[in-house]
Amino acid sequence: MCGIIGFVGNEQPLGGMLIEGLRRLEYRGYDSWGVAVGQNGTIEVAKRAGRIVKEAPTLPSASIGFGHTRWATHGGVTDQNAHPHVDCSGRFAVIHNGIIENFRKLRQQLLDAGHEFISETDSEVLAHLIEDSVGDRTDVTSVTEGVRTVFGMLRGLNAFIVLDNHSRHLFAVKNVSPLVLGHNDTGSYIASDSLALVEHVDDVHYMEDGQVAVIGPGEIRLYNHESGDQLNLDWKPLTITTGDTSLNGYPHFMIKEISEQPDVIRRIVTDGIEPVRGLAELIRESYGTFLVGSGTSSYAALSGSYLFSRIARRHVNFNVGSEFKYQEHFLTDRSLVVALSQSGETADVIEAVMAAKERGAKIAALVNVPGSTLDRMADYSVHLNAGPEQCVLSTKAYVAKVAILLLAAHILNGSEHAGREILWQSVDGIERLLSPIASDHIRNVASQIVDRDHCFIIGRGLSYPTALESALKIKEVSYIHAEGFAGGELKHGVIALIDTGTPAIVFSPLDETRDDILSGAMEMKSRGAVIIGVSPEDDEVFDIHVPVADVGDGSPIVNVVPAQLLGYQLALMRNLDPDKPRNLAKSVTVK
Ligand code: GLU
Repeated sequence: MCGIIGFVGNEQPLGGMLIEGLRRLEYRGYDSWGVAVGQNGTIEVAKRAGRIVKEAPTLPSASIGFGHTRWATHGGVTDQNAHPHVDCSGRFAVIHNGIIENFRKLRQQLLDAGHEFISETDSEVLAHLIEDSVGDRTDVTSVTEGVRTVFGMLRGLNAFIVLDNHSRHLFAVKNVSPLVLGHNDTGSYIASDSLALVEHVDDVHYMEDGQVAVIGPGEIRLYNHESGDQLNLDWKPLTITTGDTSLNGYPHFMIKEISEQPDVIRRIVTDGIEPVRGLAELIRESYGTFLVGSGTSSYAALSGSYLFSRIARRHVNFNVGSEFKYQEHFLTDRSLVVALSQSGETADVIEAVMAAKERGAKIAALVNVPGSTLDRMADYSVHLNAGPEQCVLSTKAYVAKVAILLLAAHILNGSEHAGREILWQSVDGIERLLSPIASDHIRNVASQIVDRDHCFIIGRGLSYPTALESALKIKEVSYIHAEGFAGGELKHGVIALIDTGTPAIVFSPLDETRDDILSGAMEMKSRGAVIIGVSPEDDEVFDIHVPVADVGDGSPIVNVVPAQLLGYQLALMRNLDPDKPRNLAKSVTVK
């Protein structure tokens, strides 16, 4: 889940450059940071638990170095557990992304052999394993062999980089966790996301699983991990521009990205139709389609299953990324798996796709990051084209995914024009919610619930996934426990939790769910709940009415926006950083 950046080349004060790169990758994990540079005979390390520092740590000028932002999986968030980790001899430093599933056994063997461990992490075994497998040999070929050997000993999804202070090379290898290479006149680079290299290189090579990169000052070489054969690098132009990643006058990325949603949908309707037509065709041809995503993407996928049912009369399955591999048994070479992931790097979804590929299924991907692992694994990709999403919470990528699925359902149904019309109405509907009056109203609602510990959210039909996504938005950014559920489930248990003053958000579009959902709202109100109705029309059961446009089947796109705004306001009122909630990372590259 971590962020990685490394450099080998001209001597320079590397600390600042590495920290700057890490700051761009901070969304990948931000509980600790660390950088190391290779000096004559010693490796200097600066690392600490906590957010990445603004000032570069004082490190000597160097020609080789790397940095890491951690998202702890094994071992507490402490200075000692921050990466890089150094071997007993002080020759090798290692940074790591992933989980070494067999690390306990490896650690015990290393302890028995006399190695001393400083940290509690799984990652530190790598430094000692490399130390053992390279021994006294100092040539690049021997270290490359050592890296290949150690990689072969690991179980799990891992990427790691070794800094060898003797040969003064970086060695990198990966399995699923992403790594990208680049170079310019001053030297060679490696990073876990091309975003970190945007200011340095024009072209990048995305490393494939099982490739070993040997990175020297003037050259990068690539090998097959198993055979040791040398491979060609496949350079591709790096397309992101730095301008896209600025706050652009907004106080936080969260509100910037919420505000960009109308433009994101406009782009889909104007420039993005062709890829969606291709997706609809694949669904038409398939014998069984499965939408798979994790977190927010799973709710977009669930919305999709409702949209295909009601618009295209088509049964499209839905599954959560981490559960899919337990239900892969019915996949055939006629199945289609549509993987949804903003980053294109979600390990749970990648694993699902790997399982599906093994069964011969076709893979389509809905991703926001071109060149990402899922984008490259898929037979067919639809890019969300939403621009970089930097807030850890997903907002604009969610509405993009739902908009694309809605459009695909209409294309499948032969009603593309109606689908586009709904999306245009949704653009207007979101813009109304972003107006100063509507924003003030949401702020007011937030001030009424900011001190509550719990909040319940109900919806039926198309609004059920919206209720789940709204609850996720509120809880992950404000830390208020918010629970979303299907309105009909209320009486089957959850109603026991309703007490005097409990806020309950009720999604009540003007569709076939309205009467039933209002009855549910009444049942909660009778038990003391304060009902916040998100609906085009007011109703006497609502204590607070949040008006939204009536956009028909576009309601999942528009109705999530008040919840996004509410979450944002609640975070501000609780003095929390909406862009970087505790314990989270944007790109979930561990299982
Ligand atoms: N498993 C390692 C740790 O806990 C690496 C986590 C990461 O990818 O940031 O330190």
